[in-house]
Amino acid sequence: MSQQMTPNVTDGATSFADLGLRSELLDALSGLGYEEPTPIQREAIPPLLQRRDLVGQAATGTGKTAAFALPLLERMPDGDRGARPTVLVLVPTRELAVQVSQAFHSYGRGLGVRVLPIYGGQPIGWQMKALDRGVDVVIATPGRALDHIGRGTLRLHEVKAVVLDEADEMLDMGFAEDIEEILQKTPPERQTVLFSATLPPRIEGLTGRYLQDPVRIQMGRESGPPGEAPRVRQSAYMVGRAHKPTALGRLLDVEAPNAAIVFCRTREEVDQLTETLNGRGYRAEALHGGLSQEQRDRVMGRLRGGTAELLIATDVAARGLDIEHLTHVINYNVPSAPDSYVHRIGRIGRAGREGVAITLAEPREHRMLKTIERATKQRIEVEKIPTIADLRTRRLELTRATLNESLLEDDFEHFRAVVESLAEEYDVMEVALAAVKLAYDSSGAASDEEEIPEITHKPERYGKDRREPAGRRERRGRTPDRGMTRLFFGIGRSAGIRPQDLVGAIAGESGLAGRDIGAIEIADRFSLVEVPEAAADDVITALRRSTIKGRKATVRRERDAANRRSG
Ligand code: AMP
Repeated sequence: MSQQMTPNVTDGATSFADLGLRSELLDALSGLGYEEPTPIQREAIPPLLQRRDLVGQAATGTGKTAAFALPLLERMPDGDRGARPTVLVLVPTRELAVQVSQAFHSYGRGLGVRVLPIYGGQPIGWQMKALDRGVDVVIATPGRALDHIGRGTLRLHEVKAVVLDEADEMLDMGFAEDIEEILQKTPPERQTVLFSATLPPRIEGLTGRYLQDPVRIQMGRESGPPGEAPRVRQSAYMVGRAHKPTALGRLLDVEAPNAAIVFCRTREEVDQLTETLNGRGYRAEALHGGLSQEQRDRVMGRLRGGTAELLIATDVAARGLDIEHLTHVINYNVPSAPDSYVHRIGRIGRAGREGVAITLAEPREHRMLKTIERATKQRIEVEKIPTIADLRTRRLELTRATLNESLLEDDFEHFRAVVESLAEEYDVMEVALAAVKLAYDSSGAASDEEEIPEITHKPERYGKDRREPAGRRERRGRTPDRGMTRLFFGIGRSAGIRPQDLVGAIAGESGLAGRDIGAIEIADRFSLVEVPEAAADDVITALRRSTIKGRKATVRRERDAANRRSG
């Protein structure tokens, strides 16, 4: 019992601790469920810690935000910090400003770092007050940053590091002059970091003028390992984050894998997805680096024995696993580097067997998908997520096949009396239809009715069109689907609540069918459940009168969803 983890969990790969990050940051990362650095983090963090300037060619999805945020946070002074920012990050859009500041905030929590996003569209007075109270890291869109600089509310004389994130997009959006003006307002001895998905000549010009002897890092240039390409059908589906669980469920229903492994980025994501899938009737097992050897063995046993059909895992935990009969590898997110993609799908299509590799990509990860295609020299077909109608068709096919089998078996003599007695009252055709419906209803693992908006990605048009790329406008926070409303339940994971408990309580008390209930999110102390708007009041009344897992819980419509999300 001395061994806690399998030897292959850490297998020589660089860890965050090896990179020399301080304990507060390491704690934050492990709290977020990050198990190991991504390739770009491995390459960029050491030179950034040495205060080198750096040009990184990396798209969204590579982990580039942490690659620059961690080393800059590492250098935050412990004691008294002044009121003026020491780190300035310029980003093209407000969405990115919010995302990057959330990243700084969560990594820097243990350091008490004060982070402020400033972007157009938000009241400037509020931003001025926040700047006045004192901040360490400002993440700004160029226009709004200049506005504050002009008013004297953003002072940059103490800035030690500037990051230009998604620099090519900022230039495409016409921010070139603004960026240069801002850079000129910062001390010349600052550290300057530029990340960009592409490196056109204009970026090189900017680099030449403002970066000193930069380290250069290119992601995705490496090609896949030599050797025979696996016989794997590779497809990708573009889907917004909010719809990923449903999209995955549909793909699983249509693909009906024998055994599949679903790769997630973090431990948290593994745990959440496992819970969601089990709640929807799949048999999923979680595997991540936080499990003991014994737990891992149990999980693997269930998969091999066929009691589980899905393994939800992080890269680290799945390293070295060899699962026979694996038919599908599913990337719940675009992997952080082409090598990782190749490594993952190398588990299928072996020994002449066919395999299927599926990647769910958020619109903004489109470019990373292209990078992987280029590096692996293989096409990844972007396909449409099965619609509800597709699913119905597929289930009807399955029902028909099952009935056909049953007819061939011809072993139903003792049901004859039932049909005969019903036939006195109904047409035999109608009786058959009712029986088919019953068979159909019991066939689907999870019947979902969620509409997944179709995302069509426009071809790239760098350099010409200066407007914001379409994918950017996609909101990251989730809004309930049309006709649905979200209810708040004041009870969550800490009370042992699982999705099936909520579905059970709602269906049992209110008369809604399980399939009428939409997405379910379970947090530690509360849960959010989507129900049809028309039934919301009934559900609230019914649930207030009863208990969930033996406990009374607050039930109401979700309030200030928007505030909580953007906060
Ligand atoms: P980015 O490319 O910076 O937009 O990051 C893509 C996603 O990967 C974000 O959701 C991060 O939270 C996540 N991420 C970044 N680094 C890691 C890591 N080392 N392990 C797991 N997830 C990560």
